[in-house]
Amino acid sequence: MTADKRRIDTKTVHAGETPRVMGAVSLPIFQSAMYETAGGGAYHDIKYIRLNNTPNHAALHAKLAALENGEAALVAASGMAAITTSLLTILRPGGHLLAQESLYGGTHDFLTKDLAEFGLSFDFIDPTRPETWAAKLRPQTRAIYVETISNPLMQVPDLEAVAAFARARGIVSLIDNTFATPVNFRPLEIGFDLSVHSCTKYLNGHSDIVGGAVIGRADWVTKILHGLDILGGSMDPHACFLLQRGMKTLVLRVRRQNESALRIARFLAAHPAVATVHYPGLESDPGHERAARFFDGFGGMLSFELKGGEDAAKTFLGRVTIPIIAPSLGGVETLMTRPAATSHSGMAPEDRRKIGVTDGLIRLSVGIEDTDDLIEDLVRALD
Ligand SMILES: *Cc1c(COP(=O)(O)O)cnc(C)c1O
Repeated sequence: MTADKRRIDTKTVHAGETPRVMGAVSLPIFQSAMYETAGGGAYHDIKYIRLNNTPNHAALHAKLAALENGEAALVAASGMAAITTSLLTILRPGGHLLAQESLYGGTHDFLTKDLAEFGLSFDFIDPTRPETWAAKLRPQTRAIYVETISNPLMQVPDLEAVAAFARARGIVSLIDNTFATPVNFRPLEIGFDLSVHSCTKYLNGHSDIVGGAVIGRADWVTKILHGLDILGGSMDPHACFLLQRGMKTLVLRVRRQNESALRIARFLAAHPAVATVHYPGLESDPGHERAARFFDGFGGMLSFELKGGEDAAKTFLGRVTIPIIAPSLGGVETLMTRPAATSHSGMAPEDRRKIGVTDGLIRLSVGIEDTDDLIEDLVRALD
């Protein structure tokens, strides 16, 4: 694939859109499970929805690869399908993984509860302390896995060190770039081998589909795609269509969310009822220096604690009128949750506290509503 030198705003609209089918400006939904063949050919070349090779899949693969300047990309039925298929493909057989501990709940569960069942193993690392990683290496270590911005405390790993560590040791570096999006950070540019996404979040942006993606080295994307073909976690053409449409406004949405989240984080940090705010865009944040160096924007996700703790948090969530109290993130609407009651409710309270997730912590996914309306609503609820 020749590199697409156009800017990301242009690529979100146009990459992967040609040749136009019968002149259609918007790629139609190819609602056909199978396609005519001339006979012969290899299994993975048969055109079939599960084999991820219909026109709707091909268009998305090209657009996603262009957005993060990857050699290749694939879409999957969900973020978890993309993540688990990637790890099973890279680690097997008998492989060992290094991963940060503060991970998306599904990924954390997969490592801690399921990996051993497949004969695979892992060790957690502190992603901000590269000097501690080599001690965890084993002869079977095949990969290192981090998230660009961790949930729900918005920590930023030492990203350049992760990519360099993997390269020096000949292991694969993977990063979950869901929170940053290709608008704010493109991991392959600093040497990551593979970037994974939950397209359910910012890439689609409208809270109406579930999807996943893997972007990066063509050799690995091909192997993971074959794994996906066999495991069957393929994206349906209708979801492909919605994702492609959603991605066209990605840049507009994310830039607005960056701006709004920074204003809201500053407002909260200055409010007397607020104890702490976690947002890499704040100069006081421990990840700020790294985020400022690598990111084009600090993202639309932040979390905070009220001085009144859990009781105050519950009252506050009952009083806001614009944010919807719901899990998930990355859509056009502002969402709020208390991770201790949702994403991290499966963890023992002491384990939760150990990783800094207090019972009063509130997570905010900033939407595209008017920022003044959002701040006025927060003011009313805090007073
Ligand atoms: C939601 C999410 C996932 C899982 O994605 P699904 O589309 O729900 O399978 C993985 N990583 C991160 C960071 C997420 O936010």
